[in-house]
Amino acid sequence: MDANEALRRYLEQRRELGESELVLDSMGVEEAMKLLGAAKHAPRQTAPETTDWRAAIRAAGGAPEARPSLGTPAVPEHRDSDAVTAAPTPSASLPPIPSLAEVPVGLVVGTAGRTLLDDHPAFTLDSLAAIESAVARCTRCSLYATAKNPVPGTGNPNADFMVVGEAPGANEDEQGVPFVGAAGQLLTKILEAIRLKREDVFIANVLKHRPPGNRNPLPEEVTACSPYLVRQIELVRPKVILALGTFAAQTLLETKNTIGTLRGQIHRYYGVPLVVTYHPAALLRNPAWKRPTWEDVQLARRILDQ
Ligand code: URA
Repeated sequence: MDANEALRRYLEQRRELGESELVLDSMGVEEAMKLLGAAKHAPRQTAPETTDWRAAIRAAGGAPEARPSLGTPAVPEHRDSDAVTAAPTPSASLPPIPSLAEVPVGLVVGTAGRTLLDDHPAFTLDSLAAIESAVARCTRCSLYATAKNPVPGTGNPNADFMVVGEAPGANEDEQGVPFVGAAGQLLTKILEAIRLKREDVFIANVLKHRPPGNRNPLPEEVTACSPYLVRQIELVRPKVILALGTFAAQTLLETKNTIGTLRGQIHRYYGVPLVVTYHPAALLRNPAWKRPTWEDVQLARRILDQ
């Protein structure tokens, strides 16, 4: 396959994956500029002379409009790829997009097809509404006494996509709904970026009541509360779970591994594929994690589409 054909395939793959902006980001600047300098339709004076390779690519007609941003939905868009397709390419070595089969297999918790909680009282709760009522009455740990409202979870009871966070914060405690504060608004944008609406997914936390002052959950609180989450997962039966942040990831995967080692893999939670990414609250503090988060949520989306 010549480099021109390889580039065309690469761009098509990226578009199929729903990317509208990232297409050339992983290609070296020199490579991109060489391609542009040789492009039949590219104004030759534009590409080689500018140091802004994105502007040059735009001028050549095959351009990302902006830097990747989690706030920008990656809805596939029609793009005239002729200019890029037609470009005689000298030596583009294009980064391969791993197929799902090539994504490393992560940790495996439980066995597919088995009941998650066959030995736990929460198993008797036979609907999400029943879980909601049980959470509202729950005194299994002391958090109910300091919280204003229970935050059992929200969303589509038949969701294919489930999001798991840590614990309610102040806004969630006020409203009884998970992820409604600043981190929640970012989560909504992240979901939109992979073409999901909040109401399409099911969102829940490991803890259903707010720890005072947003302190870290205590082990005994996790032990008391996480069966509700497990039962929610069992009832919703999503096709993919996205675990947000260290705490949710470590709790579900029963590990102390860091998020850096857990992301980029497809774990299995009782047979359900589980992808780990950074918590939106952490992203608000560290925008450098937006890029890996973007990759993680795209991985989750690809699993969903499979
Ligand atoms: N952080 C979480 O983990 N969950 C929420 O519901 C809100 C913030």
